[in-house]
Amino acid sequence: MKLTIVYDNEVYKKDIGLKSDWGFSCLIESEDETILFDTGARDNILLSNMKILNVSLENISKIVISHEHWDHNGGLQALSTLINDATLYRIKKKSPSKNIELVSIEKPCKVSEGIYSTGRLKGAPVDEQSLILHGNNGWYVLAGCSHPGVHTILDTSQKHGKIIGLIGGLHSFNNFKLLEGLDLVCASHCTKYKKEIQKLFPKIYVEGGVGRIIEI
Ligand SMILES: [Zn+2]
Ligand SMILES: [Zn+2]
Repeated sequence: MKLTIVYDNEVYKKDIGLKSDWGFSCLIESEDETILFDTGARDNILLSNMKILNVSLENISKIVISHEHWDHNGGLQALSTLINDATLYRIKKKSPSKNIELVSIEKPCKVSEGIYSTGRLKGAPVDEQSLILHGNNGWYVLAGCSHPGVHTILDTSQKHGKIIGLIGGLHSFNNFKLLEGLDLVCASHCTKYKKEIQKLFPKIYVEGGVGRIIEI
């Protein structure tokens, strides 16, 4: 499975025109399909970054919105006019377009082969879902902002099997012990303690940012 960060607070692949902005979006390409996880804040930046990274919108069959904050659902409206026949997995019970079929998330569910939602987890200030992805060597978690808390997200995700990687926004998470035993941590977007995590786990730390590709 291939993950490409297409929207983030930082740019990883420099000098090719990619833009950073507060928000998050990550493309997931599995053997079966292409899924967009979150849509960043501003559609013009999302679409421009995707174009530079050669993402074909017509390949996207599913969109997952982790939670209803502007920096994760901002590009959804514009995308819905450009994508036909996609399925949208979100907590809010509303689809932006007739072309987009809504799956309203409450319980944990399967999104695609090897890709599952944690289901709606209680979070402050908003509830959130994360994705659990089956990579070559085990299970990975892809999170938007981690509002329910990294502990809760990892705990819920463990039900699928041992979690070996964590990717996405971790907000003000600082219970770093929870990361011990992982093979990969890519702390991006809103993560407050990126530097501390990098320092504590240099061998497993993967820098995030727009243009970063992670093969799992
Ligand atoms: Zn948020
Ligand atoms: Zn966020």
